[in-house]
Amino acid sequence: EHKQLMIPGPVEVHEDVLSAAGGLSMSHVDPVFVNQFGEALELLRKVLVTETGQPFIVSASGTLGWDMVAVNLVEPGEDILVLNTGFFGDRFAESLEVYGGRTTHVRAPVGSRPTMAAIQAALNEKPYKMVTITHVDTSTGVLMPVEAISKMVKAKNPKTIVVVDGVCSIGGETLLFDAWNVDVAMTASQKALGAPPGLSIMMVSQYAMSVFNERKAPIPSYYGSWRKWLPVMKAYEARTPAYFATPAVQLIQALHVSLKQILTQTPDIMDRFAKHEAVSDHVKRVVASWGLRMVPAIEEAAHTMTGVYLPEGMALPQLLPKVSAKGVVLAGGLHPDIAPKYFRIGHMGLSVMEDHRGHIDNVLKVVKEALGEAGYTFPQDAL
Ligand code: PMP
Repeated sequence: EHKQLMIPGPVEVHEDVLSAAGGLSMSHVDPVFVNQFGEALELLRKVLVTETGQPFIVSASGTLGWDMVAVNLVEPGEDILVLNTGFFGDRFAESLEVYGGRTTHVRAPVGSRPTMAAIQAALNEKPYKMVTITHVDTSTGVLMPVEAISKMVKAKNPKTIVVVDGVCSIGGETLLFDAWNVDVAMTASQKALGAPPGLSIMMVSQYAMSVFNERKAPIPSYYGSWRKWLPVMKAYEARTPAYFATPAVQLIQALHVSLKQILTQTPDIMDRFAKHEAVSDHVKRVVASWGLRMVPAIEEAAHTMTGVYLPEGMALPQLLPKVSAKGVVLAGGLHPDIAPKYFRIGHMGLSVMEDHRGHIDNVLKVVKEALGEAGYTFPQDAL
């Protein structure tokens, strides 16, 4: 029996998306598929609110995005500022270092974000080729103010490349690629874009493409090279097939269906972001009324997920199996410093946009029951 999947990705997927993912075999050069792939690339631009960004859709998970940034945009010895809000900032930096990038981190205590003053101070220290921002750190649910940071970075040096890891944000959290001067935004298919896992998805600004085109060092990757993938993306968008490596036909078809659904449901994509905010606010209000503390303070919290500290004295194995027995799957903690002490609820995509296979209210009801069964006493005015 299916359980409502409410972790911060993979997320619940619509039946129409699933049937596309399970469709009959089709050639990757079939005109039908060429058109679907081309349209998916165009729709991606709409979701990221960009006119001129260059989209990439490549078979892999989100992690390939880090490698692609590293191998295509960073030359050995170049300085990169990593705005680190947890587990995924560490990992992005790890990838950058593997290919010779030299990373400097601005960190913050677990569950919070660096101050703008700390970021400004780091920018004043030395010039950076690139600044990386984890829009939502999935380990804790900290949201970074991408617009303000990007503005600060570009004011200091317009040549610095602004990279956003939007794996836990794109399609749910407001991100205006052009207006905010973002140079690279990366995600994966299994989160707020509402498709199964298996696709690495990126948007690259024309400025970042020009930095790439001027690259002198060899690209230390074969599969990850934009030299290989750019002509393929351009060809499909122009509705002609091209081949570098076989695309995941059915997954791209699934993503295509999901992107069409997203833009049919909310032709103005801002409405989708607003819906995610409303649902997130609701979750956080209810959880707060239970007397539980959330991992990031509300002003620094994402709208695609919520990290919740367990009540004093309760352990994850007392709670999550009870939640699961009631048909809902949540995630445990991920940040190594606090992992056993909190759980995570993902609320993005289908579970936010539709009352479909159980809505967020079912999750809140189930968690409340399970907390009670695990011995928690709620405040009188608990919602
Ligand atoms: N960045 C962030 C913020 C993530 O949440 C994740 C996955 N949870 C990744 C990168 C890596 O993506 P993937 O697991 O699809 O490789």
